[in-house]
Amino acid sequence: MAQIIDGKLVSSEIRAQIKIKAAAFEEKYDRKPGLAVIRVGEDPASVVYVRNKMKACDEVGFVSATYVLPENATEAEVLEKIDELNNDPTVDGLLVQLPLPKHLDEKSIVSAVAESKDADAFHTLDAGRLKLNDDSILPCTPAGIMAMLKRYGINPAGKECVVVGRSDIVGRPMAALLLAADGTVTIAHSRTPDLGAVTRRADILVSAVGRAALIKKDMVKPGAVVIDVGMNRNSEGKLCGDVDFEGVSELAGFITPVPGGVGPMTVTMLMNNTMNAALRAKGEIK
Ligand code: NDP
Repeated sequence: MAQIIDGKLVSSEIRAQIKIKAAAFEEKYDRKPGLAVIRVGEDPASVVYVRNKMKACDEVGFVSATYVLPENATEAEVLEKIDELNNDPTVDGLLVQLPLPKHLDEKSIVSAVAESKDADAFHTLDAGRLKLNDDSILPCTPAGIMAMLKRYGINPAGKECVVVGRSDIVGRPMAALLLAADGTVTIAHSRTPDLGAVTRRADILVSAVGRAALIKKDMVKPGAVVIDVGMNRNSEGKLCGDVDFEGVSELAGFITPVPGGVGPMTVTMLMNNTMNAALRAKGEIK
């Protein structure tokens, strides 16, 4: 049976460290580190995600604020709010919750967030940095996965790593981080003809697709490390990942559960990015 990689546990360890840094920051600068989130519209999943981010801020000792704009907000209105928060010295980290309503251009909105405050690291410049092996600001989900691998003593160096999914926020940066850690990396996607043939090669398999039970037992190499990023609802409405957890955990070496795996780590790394942005603004770190 696979060993469970406990995202909640690793998360609580990292949050405890952030809490110490936040308290020291408050002591020194007479204010708490601050995260601001802009949410456009009432997408139910986004409402829950943003609420969780605010709760995590409380837990680590940050101040947080959510600014909600109506579903029909114009690009100019969103950009105006971003500009206001970019110029607010009490805001260290800023993010715009995705997905945005269809009439808004995600790329230009996300790239309007000041680079120094970009808590999600979705800015085009951050994507470029990552390609050049500069890991100073990392997107939260892949950074969280790397932190979990490290905590469980799993070193990607020399390993066959397969990432399923090539989105800008998970798949691509995940592959870049595994490559930077000296893994031999393959990216599979919806046009990959025989997915199982590719995933069976993986010593470390990361699935970031968004389809329940896509990764089945016969697609996994015995002993592999299986990281499930997917967040789906099964036919009973229960939260589940991309991986058939029951089947795959019979032969994998390590596996992340859903919930309780990658999810909590993503929020934790958002806290980490915000803390680092606050310290960077004070010249305390590079
Ligand atoms: P996207 O929809 O942006 O990307 C999905 C990727 O999966 C695409 O690259 C797509 O390929 C690929 N894909 C789709 N179908 C298949 C298939 N049958 N076989 C192989 N590849 C396929 O999603 P995200 O990257 O934003 O998110 C992926 C999942 O992770 C979602 O469930 C999301 O909710 C979850 N998520 C979880 C987070 C967490 O903290 N736990 C954080 C972020 C996301 P193509 O490019 O060819 O279309």
